[in-house]
Amino acid sequence: MAKIILNDQIDSDIYYLKIAGKYKGSVGQFYMLRGWNSYHPVLGRPFSIFDLDNKSISFIYKTVGEGSNLLSKLKENDNIELFGPYGRGFPQAKGKVALIGGGMGLASLYFTARELKVQSSIEMVHIYLGFKERAILVDLFEKVSHKLIIDIGGFISQKVNINSYDYIFACGPEDMMKAIVRQKRSEKTKIFISLERRMGCGLGACLSCSCKTREGNKLTCKDGPVFPGEDICFE
Ligand SMILES: Cc1cc2nc3c(=O)[nH]c(=O)nc-3n(C[C@H](O)[C@H](O)[C@H](O)COP(=O)(O)OP(=O)(O)OC[C@H]3O[C@@H](n4cnc5c(N)ncnc54)[C@H](O)[C@@H]3O)c2cc1C
Repeated sequence: MAKIILNDQIDSDIYYLKIAGKYKGSVGQFYMLRGWNSYHPVLGRPFSIFDLDNKSISFIYKTVGEGSNLLSKLKENDNIELFGPYGRGFPQAKGKVALIGGGMGLASLYFTARELKVQSSIEMVHIYLGFKERAILVDLFEKVSHKLIIDIGGFISQKVNINSYDYIFACGPEDMMKAIVRQKRSEKTKIFISLERRMGCGLGACLSCSCKTREGNKLTCKDGPVFPGEDICFE
């Protein structure tokens, strides 16, 4: 059990959850969060590490259903269970890097950008964020990037010159990631995407988050959530 430091509503259906304690985790990994005493829902829910330091771990989540709505009721000093870190995150990058987030996909990119920006092998970190109606967390993302590009109501994938970067890390709707992969012309550009398939156990046991790749079916929770963009067979 861990103690909640804050669980702030930062937009109509979006919350910033900060939990006390020292946790492990690398960029692009996720935790399963369970913050309710009832038997139902049985399983925790997967959320990307938004930020991590020696004293706390943070998540940004949107309320969409039962689990996330239960999480939104939690207050400072309430208990929460978290299991993880799980999954394979983003790989080591170098040179020019673009991080592209659509909607809640931004949740896996803040910690990633913060870690990348201080690495000597990184020339620049550009962040592209696409929102439906309103931008959130702009100040935070500005601090961890050399350039922040925001789009509201359009297609963020159309604002990026994919082939001008060495590495692209993306998370968001699958149509956005498909559009990004399709723009790739240059061999030097390496694209990695983080899939957010509906997940059960998070550990590779229930097989519910299976995804189709060029090498056959893989599990988003264990083999991913981050995959080379070209490996995914988009629907
Ligand atoms: C690796 C990973 C990391 C994630 N990171 C974040 C994050 O940082 N922030 C965040 O807000 N969300 C994130 N998600 C999505 C989040 O896990 C789901 O929104 C959450 O599990 C929904 O649980 P619920 O009980 O509230 O909804 P449920 O009651 O289980 O479902 C409500 C509705 O949401 C749909 N739904 C549930 N899970 C998903 C999903 N993964 N993708 C699309 N639709 C879904 C259901 O089909 C249903 O229509 C992540 C998902 C994965 C797999």
